[in-house]
Amino acid sequence: MAMQEILVISRSVLRPTLLSSLLLGSCGTMPNAPTDVAPTTLAIRNTNVFDSETGSFVPHQTVVVTGDMIAAVGTEDQFRDTNAGTVLNGTDKYLIPGLVDAHVHLTHVLYQAGMTGDEILPHFLANGVTSVRSTGDSVVAQSLLRRWTEANSDRSPRLFLASPLIGNAPPIHQDIGWSITEPSQVPAFLEHLSKWDLTTLKIYSNCKPEVARKVIEVGHDLGFVVTGHLSSYRVDDAVRDGIDSIEHIESVSDFLRSDPSDLHSLDLTSERAVQVVKDIAKNGVYVNPTLSVFRGTLFFVDVDEIVNEADNLKMPGRLLDFWARDRETRLANYSSGPLETRNATFRKYQELVGMLYRAGAKLLVGTDAPEPQVPPGYSLHKEMELMVESGMTAADVLTAATRANAEILGQSDRIGRVASGMLADLVVLDANPIDDIHNTRRIWRVIRGGVLLDPEYILRSL
Ligand SMILES: [Zn+2]
Repeated sequence: MAMQEILVISRSVLRPTLLSSLLLGSCGTMPNAPTDVAPTTLAIRNTNVFDSETGSFVPHQTVVVTGDMIAAVGTEDQFRDTNAGTVLNGTDKYLIPGLVDAHVHLTHVLYQAGMTGDEILPHFLANGVTSVRSTGDSVVAQSLLRRWTEANSDRSPRLFLASPLIGNAPPIHQDIGWSITEPSQVPAFLEHLSKWDLTTLKIYSNCKPEVARKVIEVGHDLGFVVTGHLSSYRVDDAVRDGIDSIEHIESVSDFLRSDPSDLHSLDLTSERAVQVVKDIAKNGVYVNPTLSVFRGTLFFVDVDEIVNEADNLKMPGRLLDFWARDRETRLANYSSGPLETRNATFRKYQELVGMLYRAGAKLLVGTDAPEPQVPPGYSLHKEMELMVESGMTAADVLTAATRANAEILGQSDRIGRVASGMLADLVVLDANPIDDIHNTRRIWRVIRGGVLLDPEYILRSL
């Protein structure tokens, strides 16, 4: 009995240090020698820490991690004698909260590629994405996948799950759609979903307005966050009915077409445009533009430079095979007008993001990975770049990708900030991302639940 206790205690003290040494591999700063009794497991000393309240980096900070939590953040002096198992010299490094991708699918798309989520999840984590928000998938498959991530947390982000796509009959996507044709069917379906540990309900583009309204009402009573890819349910109605978030900038822009049948007839100067932007901001509805999927999958699939970008080619072969098949189908049916026109419309999508931002609307950062040419992990950096191009400051984009994305998951007290009492999900960068948003790609280390990881190590698990 006594022997067993000692064994357990020493294992719990030494394990993080041993793990850190193993995961760091041969490169990088090696941890200090294990101490007999380590009160803390990891300290990052004298570094620059991102403060999302002020949108700036606070210099000369030390962050102390115990187990999977941030135990303390303070000036170097306060922790001079800290006895951590692993000490990182954070001089000239930039510490940001773990990034969150607010729009992913973990079974959809992969189903068509003949793959499972574990084959792409390491790409998220290696890119500093420590949490992902599902926006519609098969409930059983997602739940099993989350169980896998809990057993393989050194190669996967945290998963926050969603309902199937709730729409009319027949479902647009047979693999992850769920048809509800009458509001009276909503309560029983959502009661059933509440047995699963889901965060988000997803209203899909063909959902009847009266069904969507009922989903918001009953979903809120049951504690769900309700989001929507809107089309038949109008964005102004959804905002008035209290929807929490809107997926895709197209859910807003479609409502602003002067000719409903013409994608390129957006009028951003109309009274309607000004009003809807104002209402979204006033009602505190989050908008998740997902510019990446419009760029990669929908607008420029005939542009070789976009399709063959280096990040895309890092994807597993079966996913690339599916993307190539998908491209052929799209090209055969392509009717979105000349490249010049599409470029102009994509710019309008970005302008609309800028309008929402300037009006004070809350923006999320999501990608729609792994849709074609939207590579998991890498695409979140692209999305942040596209949002800066749209007129946001780099600091506000970084805050959106961490704090706002945590808010929409109801996880503000656990993730999205570097502060004591938060989960130790962190990214250590080699350069300042406020100076240039491209620097979020310059990842030195990822820390997931207090475990220090080298991105190369994470990718080697593939
Ligand atoms: Zn999606």
